[in-house]
Amino acid sequence: MTNPHSALPDDRASTAHYHPRGDSRHLNDSSSPTPAELTDCLFFSPEDGRIWLNDQRMLLLHSSSFGALRREVIERLGLEQARGLFTRTGYASGARDARLIRERWPQADAAAVFRAGTHLHTLEGMTKVEPLHFKFDADSGFYEGEFLWHHSCEADEHVGAYGIGQDPVCWTETGYAIGFVSGLFGQLVIFREVQCRGMGHGSCRVIGKTVEQWGDVEQDLRYLNVSQAVSHTVAAPTPDSPAASRTGVSEPHPLVAPVRRSTRRCRPCNALHAHPPPY
Ligand SMILES: [Zn+2]
Repeated sequence: MTNPHSALPDDRASTAHYHPRGDSRHLNDSSSPTPAELTDCLFFSPEDGRIWLNDQRMLLLHSSSFGALRREVIERLGLEQARGLFTRTGYASGARDARLIRERWPQADAAAVFRAGTHLHTLEGMTKVEPLHFKFDADSGFYEGEFLWHHSCEADEHVGAYGIGQDPVCWTETGYAIGFVSGLFGQLVIFREVQCRGMGHGSCRVIGKTVEQWGDVEQDLRYLNVSQAVSHTVAAPTPDSPAASRTGVSEPHPLVAPVRRSTRRCRPCNALHAHPPPY
């Protein structure tokens, strides 16, 4: 099920003929899936050592352990490689959650389906998501959304390790947003943190747009591009001054490269849409 060449998911969402259109201004709080309905998808099975979110096995991981892992990855690989790795990990989680929502609520209002990602992201403990506004129309290829992330776990861990910096640090959360929205929308939607607690802001602020709407997404695509897998030795940075990656930019991974030629429907999303569900 996993593409051996890619950390991007080879998930299969049942969204082949899904052309969502919606506007958060028209959302009803009672529209399914509600936060309560999503919480009902989470259950613990301590008898056999499993935790489930609907049909997905989950982990209850200490935030501090995630921070320790993240710090070791940064120090071994450098900031740029680590950012890509965690962005792709978040992407995989977001894409899986998009599939969950579509399969469990196939008839739900499109705006409520898109909003469900904010609830799941919150439920999973990464950050409290506050949607400011979002609007989308898959047929015309338009997506625009703005969200606040409060007390991001990743920002806490990054600031605890390295202090306040110059760049956004919520890489996993950003990847999650890209994976979730792109998985539903059928085109690659890039999210960027324009404010981050890791930069000293009170909360993180993210904006999502399609590749065409952003225009220049080369840097964003690099973080989704697994062809930059580590192949060079990177000196370990000090905790106070993590080194940037010294690895040059390699050829783009085929999953991401076609986005530059045709933004209408991206290959990562084709992977989500082109195949029937695996079960
Ligand atoms: Zn942030």
